[in-house]
Amino acid sequence: MPELPEVETIRRGLVNQVCNKRIERVEVRCKRIVVRPSIPELAAALTGQSIRDIQRRGKFLLFELESYKLLVHLGMSGQITYWDKSRRNDDRFLVTMTGLQKARQHATDKHTHVSVYFNDGNAMHYRDIRQFGRWRLYRHQEFNQAREYLRLGMEPFTDEYQLAKFQEQLRKRKVKIKSLLLNQTIVAGVGNIYADEALFEAKIRPERMSRALSTQEQRLLFKAIPRVLRRGLQNGGTTFRNYQNSAGEEGHNQERLKVYGRYGEKCRKCRAQIMRVVVNQRSSHFCPRCQH
Ligand SMILES: [Zn+2]
Repeated sequence: MPELPEVETIRRGLVNQVCNKRIERVEVRCKRIVVRPSIPELAAALTGQSIRDIQRRGKFLLFELESYKLLVHLGMSGQITYWDKSRRNDDRFLVTMTGLQKARQHATDKHTHVSVYFNDGNAMHYRDIRQFGRWRLYRHQEFNQAREYLRLGMEPFTDEYQLAKFQEQLRKRKVKIKSLLLNQTIVAGVGNIYADEALFEAKIRPERMSRALSTQEQRLLFKAIPRVLRRGLQNGGTTFRNYQNSAGEEGHNQERLKVYGRYGEKCRKCRAQIMRVVVNQRSSHFCPRCQH
């Protein structure tokens, strides 16, 4: 699932690609993706609008249009890529980005559920194999109805991310620490990958009860969360299956992960075998020697 670093990487790419472009036409091919309004209403409302800005909060992308806000959640496997008409799927247009990655045009196929065409001939495509992504359109004055978004907790990398507030949540909840980290109303943007990585950095096992952490552990975890997120962002996100940025490139953070997805492999720090437990139906990876 795309988490904060992946969604932010997509946002940064799209800002340069689609801001100030005017929408000429919108095609929706899958009913499940658009929650509100109806598909014909969404397509009609977006037509003629220009995208002023794109923001991110937690794992949500918020497109600011002239008369509307378009809230997009990528779910488990959502991808948004920009299609530049001048660089079609032609080998001549493969551009070396870092020496390792190649920028390819994103293919549209049966999983491309929404296409937004701009009046300059370029497009933005939404592709989602598992179809858990959701699009919601609000008029500006209706945005107080965006409940899931407005309930989001502390946003890492901002002033609202504060140790005292984090500690208060850890103490008052009767849940395992891994579940608490996945709860978007406490810290926004952390999912399975970065929760496991933050717990490794803080040397805490995922099944520990949140209220049983020592003050020192609370502090270590509080610092570890933005650290692993920042690393993910610097590496262009983590790609296991579907994630790619808005230019269709994979991330590189999967090569740097310490525990997530490394079940049975050796801990990079102590060589012990990485183990896996299921916490609230989510598999959690940890090092039995480094984490307590
Ligand atoms: Zn270890």
